[in-house]
Amino acid sequence: MQYRQLVKGGDNLSILGYGCMRFPSKNGRINEELTDEQMWYAFEKGVNYFDTAYPYHGGKSEVMLGKFIKKHDIRNKVFIANKMPTFLIKKPEQFETFFNTQLERLDTDYIDYYLMHALGSLAGWEKLKALGALEFIEEKKKAGKIRYIGFSFHGKGEEFKKIIDDYNWDFCQIQYNYLDETNQAGTAGLEYAYEKGVGVVVMEPLRGGNLASKAPTKVKEKIEHFEPKRSPAFWALRWIFNHKEVSVVLSGMNNLDHIKDNIYCAKNTSPNSMTEEELHLISDIKEVYKELMKVSCTGCNYCMPCPFNVDIPGIFSDYNSNSFFGGMMPKAFYIQKLLGMGTAKSGADLCVACGKCMTHCPQGIQIPTQLKEADKALGKKYLVYPIKLGMKLFSKKKKVKIKSSKKTEEKTEEQTKE
Ligand code: SF4
Ligand code: SF4
Repeated sequence: MQYRQLVKGGDNLSILGYGCMRFPSKNGRINEELTDEQMWYAFEKGVNYFDTAYPYHGGKSEVMLGKFIKKHDIRNKVFIANKMPTFLIKKPEQFETFFNTQLERLDTDYIDYYLMHALGSLAGWEKLKALGALEFIEEKKKAGKIRYIGFSFHGKGEEFKKIIDDYNWDFCQIQYNYLDETNQAGTAGLEYAYEKGVGVVVMEPLRGGNLASKAPTKVKEKIEHFEPKRSPAFWALRWIFNHKEVSVVLSGMNNLDHIKDNIYCAKNTSPNSMTEEELHLISDIKEVYKELMKVSCTGCNYCMPCPFNVDIPGIFSDYNSNSFFGGMMPKAFYIQKLLGMGTAKSGADLCVACGKCMTHCPQGIQIPTQLKEADKALGKKYLVYPIKLGMKLFSKKKKVKIKSSKKTEEKTEEQTKE
């Protein structure tokens, strides 16, 4: 295993971090025995950074990690990363409540690396500050309950830089892989954080498995014909480890062969160690993805904001993902935009073809036309699924209500009789 520091002069962390969000499960419950075996294997091979969060496995991920650490008596040999569920904070006192629950679930009295979970914009961070986030952080750091503070990020590049500049962060966590160089924080964000002395943890190195087992056939063929023979996951991880700016890469592991493959890669990749041929392979793979690309959007955001709130780069990203990987995920992301779930509506149906965005697009994309195509590929016909699901849940609830009110009526009748 190789080790790097996330905070200058701080802990030596395994460059491969154990993501605790995808433990092996049986009938919706964590398979604890198997999870323990897999985590122990990784630990024995040198993995010492374990990343969990309040909502993972419905709260059971933190409990599982706590049990694992206790059972093997390794609290002083591992580093726990955990996150404040910022999206659930409505009142100042909730920082304390969530944090105490997390300590209890993990069965520990301090957390090594603590993050504000899933910040998306400076405005969101400002709201948290108004609720007392800074006071909470300062107090916990002073009390030794939090050793290092950071944030995880899913948003636009310029917002990332603003959040970095707004506080004296120890570290941050970004989505990064060879397909996301210009998406979210991207390479520009990675380099910005590094220059500012803010350590970087990378999440989604395999884009939820899409750069590994779910990669398009053409990509798999390229990899199969390359020497040395390694897995698609190996090349995706190696490309990230090759960046000196990255300190830890999280992999949500739940299969022993994958764990071995990830560890092999982490053991054998130093910064700037990829050969020209290997870098060429990655460029070739990216070319394949480019061919499958529906719209040549780079996610630069120059076209934003749209005066009608259309999320242009977000929709194009869903459209391309749909072509690369298929499946329900890109459609689900787009439907969220159409319906405005948890935020304002931002689907392609809001576009009035005013053309303002096109004057800013360096790629010369016919944005309104492409938005229509994206909507056709991802939108309305798939809306039927959430609607059906909603109706099903609603009618179930209604039936339960009718049943329970009938029971109450019967009871009241019986009681009256008595
Ligand atoms: S053309 Fe459509 S997407 Fe572009 S700015 Fe106008 S409304 Fe927004
Ligand atoms: S300006 Fe063009 S390339 Fe950049 S995000 Fe908008 S559509 Fe994509």
